Amino acid sequence: MKKNLLLLLIMTMVLTCPLAMSQTKRPVIGISCSWSETEASVLNTYLNSVMMAGGLPVIIPLTADSEILAAQLENVDALVMTGGEDFDPLTFGQEPAQGLAGVVPQRDQYDLTLIKAAAQGLPILAVCRGLQGVNIAFGGTLYQDIPSTYPAKYIKHRQTSPGKFGSHTITIEPDSELSKILGTQKTVVNSLHHQAIDKLAPGFKVTARATDGIIEAIEKMDGAAPILCVQFHPEGMTNGGDKEMLKIFQYIVNQANKTKK
Ligand code: MN
Repeated sequence: MKKNLLLLLIMTMVLTCPLAMSQTKRPVIGISCSWSETEASVLNTYLNSVMMAGGLPVIIPLTADSEILAAQLENVDALVMTGGEDFDPLTFGQEPAQGLAGVVPQRDQYDLTLIKAAAQGLPILAVCRGLQGVNIAFGGTLYQDIPSTYPAKYIKHRQTSPGKFGSHTITIEPDSELSKILGTQKTVVNSLHHQAIDKLAPGFKVTARATDGIIEAIEKMDGAAPILCVQFHPEGMTNGGDKEMLKIFQYIVNQANKTKK
């Protein structure tokens, strides 16, 4: 009798196992890449953060072919736009300022195409350069170089300590998605940027600022899918063991689960 019960238990487990596996299948999170003539690459901090949050990261290779990019997006449930080089100011109708650093026009084109295509229905988490790209894609502009073009007194936004450490405070709007995710209206974030949003893209809401007024987060929650953008690097802190910043990746993975194919 005991043997029969054990057999029944094993058979039940075997039969229900494929169902359980499909229910727990990880949502696929597309990650934008950095690009050079010789390679497409993504920092492990992004890949690790997505995996820690329960997602399955895939790198989206750079191409100028928008049909291939659209096909790539058909296979993902959410998009993470990563950090990187300065955006070419010609993409937002300005000539280069003296403080502009190196630009990669191929990557600008790829980023802007990905953002516009994904905004048709995929949740987007945009980090640093990613936030700047979202702002440009929707009609905003940037300060090309905070030290030489920001009109007010500014704090240090290019920390010299490692990215896993926070370095400046941000104040978060109480009714924002970001404050719901983090459960706070004030926190300390890392800061590894010298560009920032100047004119905000129409349709977006500023949800966090540094103490000098620099925009640290924007979002658009009334579109086809949520677009959450941060000027700081939650992946650097998450990969360094920060459980608060992990919540941002858990959010995008949860959103991806809702759009999962
Ligand atoms: Mn900052």
